[in-house]
Amino acid sequence: MEEDKSLNFIEQTVENDLQEGKNDGRIQTRFPPEPNGYLHIGHVKAICMDFGIAEKYNGVCNLRFDDTNPVKEDTEYVDSIQQDIQWLGFRWGNVYYASDYFDQLYALAVRFIKEGKAYIDEQTAEQIAEQKGTPTEAGTASPYRDRPIEENLSLFEAMQRGEIEDGRMVLRAKIDMASPNMHFRDPIMYRIITTHPHHRTGRKWNVYPMYDFAHGQSDYFEGVTHSICTLEFVVHRPLYDYFIDQFAGQVPSNFPAWKEGSDYRPHQYEFNRLNITYTVMSKRKMLQLVNEGLVAGWDDPRMPTVCGLRRRGYTPTAIREFINKIGYTKVEGMIDTGLLEHTIREELKATAPRVCAIFDPVKLVITNYEGTGETIEAENIDGNEALGTREIPFARELYIERGDFQKEADKNFYRLSPGGREVRLKNAYIIQATGYEEDADGNLTTVYATYDPLSKSGTEGGNRKTKATINWVECTSCIDVETRLYDRLFAVENPSAEEGDFRDLLNKDSLKTVTCKAEQWLKRELKKPDMVNGIAQVNHYQLLKQGFFVVDPDTDEKHIVLNRTASLKDNWQK
Ligand code: ATP
Ligand code: MG
Repeated sequence: MEEDKSLNFIEQTVENDLQEGKNDGRIQTRFPPEPNGYLHIGHVKAICMDFGIAEKYNGVCNLRFDDTNPVKEDTEYVDSIQQDIQWLGFRWGNVYYASDYFDQLYALAVRFIKEGKAYIDEQTAEQIAEQKGTPTEAGTASPYRDRPIEENLSLFEAMQRGEIEDGRMVLRAKIDMASPNMHFRDPIMYRIITTHPHHRTGRKWNVYPMYDFAHGQSDYFEGVTHSICTLEFVVHRPLYDYFIDQFAGQVPSNFPAWKEGSDYRPHQYEFNRLNITYTVMSKRKMLQLVNEGLVAGWDDPRMPTVCGLRRRGYTPTAIREFINKIGYTKVEGMIDTGLLEHTIREELKATAPRVCAIFDPVKLVITNYEGTGETIEAENIDGNEALGTREIPFARELYIERGDFQKEADKNFYRLSPGGREVRLKNAYIIQATGYEEDADGNLTTVYATYDPLSKSGTEGGNRKTKATINWVECTSCIDVETRLYDRLFAVENPSAEEGDFRDLLNKDSLKTVTCKAEQWLKRELKKPDMVNGIAQVNHYQLLKQGFFVVDPDTDEKHIVLNRTASLKDNWQK
């Protein structure tokens, strides 16, 4: 088949399989998270692949919780994973759990023992590791390798009955201690865990299958055709195939996903993991940040988790667009976090209403303005009628940014100074500064100006050009809004590659909080947001000259909190 450049290499494989009529034309994938943490942007790359393939080729993608280690797993994670996948806009066929197959897997392990293909090893984890050998040197056989079948069987049963202490024994597959593939050197199939109840099976099991003995079998039981994972599993693939070879051709009774006698079997394919600069994506490290209070939780807006990105103001469309941009290859690499920021910025530039908020306010008095004030109608995004308009109060006293005024006029300063240039107030009139006032310590307190009543934006006189336009809010109507200005979580590009404690590499300035004076329009955020699937529907704003912001769930009836999603400046270079 001719290579189609618009397809990634896995889509190419799927199309070839369809053309060859494999699996009766059935396409089935799965996304297999372990419920031991929240999903992160790396998982989204896998989700877009697994669900994307199923969507594109009229197949089905199931959600399978790979819940084989009760020590770290919890229903809190099961729930958050489902919520995040739905929020991203994907729909699974079924929800399965590896723990659904504990009976079948146990029976299979017993069969292996009876066929002389597995044995109980009583050595410590350290001893077993020492005997593994190196890629160029064969391993050493365990002294328990040739234990009689009956003894293996009764010990395995004793393990399951809870009669053997955790770590005292494991069940190992008896394959080949000299194999050039280290994973074939008698891999562990089962271990004892009695310390923690399982989130679904409770205390029923005292032995739990290892990843390699559970994953391929689970794929097989469910009828998965394309089992897609990341590159570190390439070396596991022969073992994946080996275990499936041991029982392929038998149709499991509770998953009749394919016809009896078909040559069905799942195949594993691998793509490159997503790594992003200035963050970590290991669940162990993220859990540590959460548990030690170094971030505000899994959904801290600095975290690379899906819930963190959501709270930061990322949208499902921007996240999926980012994944689409980076693509899938077979080469590991590091993606510039600037590309992620660029993607949300591009979206919000076109969709987020632009409002004024003054971060370092100083009062401006328009001395020739008569009357009690007026209302200005402004477009939410200049030139984009579809996004509507809003009303902005205007009066004699406004707040402007302190930095928009300078005491001495200067030909290189385009904003306000007494006797200096004319400046337009955004969406309103042209003004000229006439004077200012300071307190006893020399801090600027008030700027005085006059305005040209015929220069209002949207009128004939509104076309008159000035070198600069400045932002403002009206003093009596504006509201105080808390803004949280986030920056990268880590101070170094690749925290995982550095020596020492990763927590020492955190960016100390990753959060600054500033209360600003914002247009009264934002008061609409004081009411409770609509909820969809348990997720608050939030509005995004561009605060002019400050960046893109989103409403934070800490907002209540009295107090608005906005998170900065991204600054305005794009520092991503292609
Ligand atoms: P841990 O951090 O505990 O090693 P994990 O990241 O492997 O866990 P899983 O829950 O086992 O997490 O992952 C579920 C799926 O997501 C797997 O198929 C895995 O390959 C994929 N995945 C995890 N991290 C990434 C990543 N950074 N890029 C792409 N896919 C990923
Ligand atoms: Mg994993």
